[in-house]
Amino acid sequence: MSAGLSASSAAELARAAFRRLAALRLPPTPENYSRVWAELERGGAVHPPGEPASLAAQHPPAAGEGAAAAPWQRLWEQAVQLALQPPAAGPALRQRAAQLLAAAHAPQAAGEPQSMLAGNRRLWQDWRQLRVEEQLAVDRMLELFGAIVGHLDQVFGGESAIAAEFVELRQAAARPLDPARIDAARSLIEPWLRRQAALQRSALEARSTSREVVGQVLRGLDSFLGQNRAFSTSLQQDLQRLQGGLEAEQLAQLAQALLQRGTDLHRSSEDFATRLEQAQQQAEQALQRIHSLESELQAASRQLLEDPLTGALNRRGLDAAFARDSAQAAQATRPFSVALLDLDHFKQVNDSYGHDFGDEALRGLVQVARKLVRPGDSIARMGGEEFMVLFPDSDAVSAQRAVERLLQGFRNRRMLVRSTGQRVELSFSAGVAEFQPGEDFSCLYRRADTALRQAKEGGRQRVCVAPAQPALADVAGAA
Ligand code: GH3
Ligand code: MG
Ligand code: MG
Repeated sequence: MSAGLSASSAAELARAAFRRLAALRLPPTPENYSRVWAELERGGAVHPPGEPASLAAQHPPAAGEGAAAAPWQRLWEQAVQLALQPPAAGPALRQRAAQLLAAAHAPQAAGEPQSMLAGNRRLWQDWRQLRVEEQLAVDRMLELFGAIVGHLDQVFGGESAIAAEFVELRQAAARPLDPARIDAARSLIEPWLRRQAALQRSALEARSTSREVVGQVLRGLDSFLGQNRAFSTSLQQDLQRLQGGLEAEQLAQLAQALLQRGTDLHRSSEDFATRLEQAQQQAEQALQRIHSLESELQAASRQLLEDPLTGALNRRGLDAAFARDSAQAAQATRPFSVALLDLDHFKQVNDSYGHDFGDEALRGLVQVARKLVRPGDSIARMGGEEFMVLFPDSDAVSAQRAVERLLQGFRNRRMLVRSTGQRVELSFSAGVAEFQPGEDFSCLYRRADTALRQAKEGGRQRVCVAPAQPALADVAGAA
């Protein structure tokens, strides 16, 4: 560096020279540096703040400084160091640059400028060659990427959901190579690959093929942007093997292989779809079978608790309902009442209109009761033409009212005698008893039956209420 040139102005001038070389698309050789240096000196277009326009005029080379110490040589040194910094050049090229720089400082260098210049030229030629090879590898990479994306597009093009992803992928491979676009394409393709994997869990072939192919290509592009020299070399070999220098026959083989891969992939998807359909059918059949078994089971358990003639609870069902309602009443200290019903002159009804009509009358009573009592109330057939209705949450008075409504409803129904078309008004008598804490079923039944007898004796078609049992009432009162 010349005696009066400060480090900062030299660096600024080096940068200015380098920018100028780039603008002129000239390699940074000493000759080119000389030209740019002269230009900068003449025009003074770029100079550091506070420095006069012509540095050379202010700081002429000191007497005794040889050609090797000229400012352009210092600038050239800086340019070499800048241009060959990693990752732009590999270690071998950098080592050669270091040797060349060292040689430029050797005392004999001033005497042998030609050999130094020749070394320098070789260095720049190699550097340019490296750039050309790298560009070639990128080109081939993009061609391969384009071929694969185009092919996948053919295979999956029918799926409109991923059509947009293919557009993005194609654009990612378009020039100029844009890292942001490649990132965007990758973030689009990754969920798609995951979705594919989820959709086609059994189609291992499809999953691994599509993930492998697209993933490899995108990873390759990514690495390229990172300027990974080692990868570049191995990729170049791969590309050469795959594309064989773009020879038609090898290209056809590659296309064939890709097509085969795609066809296999498509077929395995179809196989999977068929298997899935069969599995679904089997599952549906199994489900239907389960449903019918369940309803058979429900029917069987209903038969266990139901009277087959009327559909009311049978004696077993009544026991269960009574156990439940009496326990709840005792626990919540809520009233609970029962009513015992017996059809009036039923023997005579049978005798007059036939046994079938009698059966119809029994069913009719249950139907009317179902309509008129609350959903939580239960109707059971005790046997013959005798029924019991359970009224949870009801005292004797409200149960009596409910039974009277039922009696009215049954009478109003006026049962049809099919053989004659005649309508007959039927009735029942009933005895109501309110459950008392500690009382068992037979005790409650006896009290209701006593009230029923009373209703019969009182002229039938009526409802009588059993008085509270004195002993139990006393116990309850004392408590
Ligand atoms: P009351 O008013 O005093 O109850 O007179 P009743 O005729 O109803 O007297 P009773 O209890 O003696 O008669 C019951 C009749 O009910 C006898 C029987 O033939 C009839 N019966 C019992 N079970 C059935 C049945 O399942 N179907 C039919 N149709 N009749 C039945
Ligand atoms: Mg009777
Ligand atoms: Mg009877």
